[in-house]
Formats: sequence, C-alpha cells, structure tokens
Amino acid sequence: MLEKGVIPRTEPLLRVGIILPEDKVESLTIQLQPEQEYIILADDETFSQKGKIVATLADGALKVNGVRAQKLLVKTLSENGFVTASPVIAGRGFHWFKYISVKLPESIEVTVRDGAMMLVNELKLETYLTCVATSEMGAACPPALIEAQTVVARAWMLANVEQKHIHLGFDVCNDDCCQRYQGFNYVTEQSRHGALATKGMVITYAGAICDARYSKCCGGMMETFENLWENRPLPYMQAIPDMPEGNPYGDLDLTVEKNAREWILTSPEDAFCGPEMIPSADLKKYLGHVDEAGEYYRWNVSISHDELAQNIREKVAPDLKKILDIEITKRAASGRSLEMDIRYLDENDEEKVLLVEKDYEARRLLHPMFLYSSAVVIEKKMSADGKNWEFHYRGAGWGHGAGLCQIGALGMSLKGYSTEAILKHYYPGVTYEKIYD
Ligand SMILES: [Zn+2]
Ligand SMILES: [Zn+2]
Repeated sequence: MLEKGVIPRTEPLLRVGIILPEDKVESLTIQLQPEQEYIILADDETFSQKGKIVATLADGALKVNGVRAQKLLVKTLSENGFVTASPVIAGRGFHWFKYISVKLPESIEVTVRDGAMMLVNELKLETYLTCVATSEMGAACPPALIEAQTVVARAWMLANVEQKHIHLGFDVCNDDCCQRYQGFNYVTEQSRHGALATKGMVITYAGAICDARYSKCCGGMMETFENLWENRPLPYMQAIPDMPEGNPYGDLDLTVEKNAREWILTSPEDAFCGPEMIPSADLKKYLGHVDEAGEYYRWNVSISHDELAQNIREKVAPDLKKILDIEITKRAASGRSLEMDIRYLDENDEEKVLLVEKDYEARRLLHPMFLYSSAVVIEKKMSADGKNWEFHYRGAGWGHGAGLCQIGALGMSLKGYSTEAILKHYYPGVTYEKIYD
C-alpha cells in the first residue's frame, strides 16, 4: 500500500481492487498461461494447477476449484507474466458498463469481504503505469501524450490524497472512480516506452507531489480545483483557456451567465480539445477502448420529463411529482455548474426548490447515466407529439475539466508540443522532476 503524504524514494508496490464486494461476482475464472510459471497458494498451501482456476462463492464462503479456502494467491514468475481474470466490470455504475476479462500481471489475491468476492492485483507502480496510459487512451497516440498521461497518472497515484478504498485494503480500484486499469489488455511497446522514458518522473509544487487531476475534455476552458472539490485553491489548477498562447479568451469570465451561454452554444475555435485541432472522425483512432465514440467538445442530449423526474426522485427528492424548471444560478470558471436550482411540485402540489451544489451532483441529477458535463444550457420544450415535456441539454466538455484535458493533450501532442510543455500548460507553475530511479 502507498503511504499518504510520503514521497517514495524507491519504486512502490500498489494494490488495485479489480473485483469489489459491490460487484457481487459469484464465480470467477482465472486462466493460466500454459507457457508461464506460477506460484499458487490456497490458504498458504501450494496448489498445483494447470489451465484454469475457478473461484466460487457459496453462502458467503470461498471455494477454489470446489475446495473451501479463505484466500487464493497467484503469483506470476515469468517475465511479463499474467493471469486472465473474468468477469470484471468496466464502467462500474455507468450506462456503458460491461463485463470484460483482464490480463493481470504480477500477483493476485482472491478473498471474501463483506460476504462477497474480492479480487486485488498487487503490482509494481511502473508496471501499473504501462497499463493505465493506454487503458485510458488508444495506443495510436503520439509519445508525448502517452508520456504526459503517464506522469500525471504517477503523480496522482503518489499524491494519493483520496484513499477512497483504504477500508477494503487496496489503494485504487480499476475504474473511473479512481483510474481506469485493465491490466495488460492494451499494453503496447509504445506504452512500455512511455513508462520507461518517464520512470520516477512526477510534477511537484512547493515540494509536494501534485494532486494531478485530469478529465476527458475540458470544453476549451480549464476548471479550478476548489470549484469541484474542497474549497481550497490549488495554484496549479487554474481557469485557463485550453488554447495556444495569445488566444483572445484569457479574460473571458464564464461565471457571467451571458458569457457562459455564448461559450457553450457556440464552438470557440483554436481549443486544443476542439474539432479544428482533432476532427471527430479522427478521435476514434486515439480514444480508449471502452468509450463510446462521440462528440466531446460540444454536444446535445435530451431527456423526457418523466425520466428526469424519476432520476431526481430516486436520488434526492422522493416527494417530487413534477419538475417546473431547472436553472443554473451560479457557474464555475469553465461554465460548469456551481449552484443549480431545481424547482418542482411535490405530491401535495406545493412548490419546492432543490439547491444542487457543484459539478458532480449536477451531473448525477441531470441524467440517470450521469451527464457528460455540467457546463450546459438547459431548455424545457414540449415533445414533438405535444404530449410530454422534455429537457434539452447543450453542453461543453466531458468530465470535470480540471487539470490535464486528455483530448486537449492529444491535440497538443499532435501539434508537436513536448511532454513537459503539455504538463506545464495544464498545471501552470509546476516542476517536472524525478523522485526515484
Ligand atoms: Zn475507486
Ligand atoms: Zn480541453
């Protein structure tokens, strides 16, 4: 496990949760590679097995190939060795979630936790990083992008400020909740090079490793840390246009509603993450494997009143009968929602107002599948058949928009910017340095 607040001087080991108790997996298949060597232990006893191991759960107890055990441990001894585990969830909690199989390097551990199966992959940080840079984006990306993404992933991991899963005994999970990780599934020579070329390199600010957040597409303006998470500004996450130096938007204030509307409803040119830099058709060859191909910079989504009402009822307001109006009353630096009012009638036809704070909660409430971004202009219209109200969202960006913008970083790398230039664009004022060899 990583130690919070400690800068490691040698390469650390990382524990990644692959199957979580909440996934409720009851039967897990671990496929072994015929040409590879393994140590397999069931409750510390050597367990000789070729082919595959099946771990099942019955009445809260684990069985390994039908025999009860508390814990199964499989270590790969071969170079670049792995086991294949399935089913594993990709996109946990999102509409596009699916079951996949993943090739897990180094060491895995299957246990029972809270009456459910849990699979943890323990591996060296640098091995992990060769996997995440390409799990997040397609391997066709230029080296500067893969390297920048690797440095950000390393810094984020080591800053380790969240520790969302510490109670379950691992550092990060395998999904977007932490950082998407699919083992060796998409590792290429290029991603190995990305990790090797930047081994031990991080970005720091005032002697501490940066809490380097990143998202898919900022929408042309980066968001600040404090608008999204804790109310503590981080000097290296500022509201800066995601555009080349000398762009005309440096002083544009998107907290002003009129400016935000114009920004979202038009498609400002020259953004590194905009369609002039990377045409939508080309994005497909660079994006990761789990994403649906789509529009990231500017997009439209519609939802019926009833579906939206159902979502808000389920999540926060069980008494909601009819939505009257939704209005973003306070916007953050990138036009994302800081405060939003949902005006509705309750079961007794009394009017109520629900105040929704910050980007994450707005996205969660505006769509059952989580809206791409809260930088939206919302319109209420009657459906074409005149029977139902609908809400139309026109939005900018995908994700929270703070720190590195993955599509923008792709745009920069395609334009020939270096790894360091990309990092310093998204995290102004940081130092790019090596902390271990
Ligand atoms: Zn997580
Ligand atoms: Zn961007």
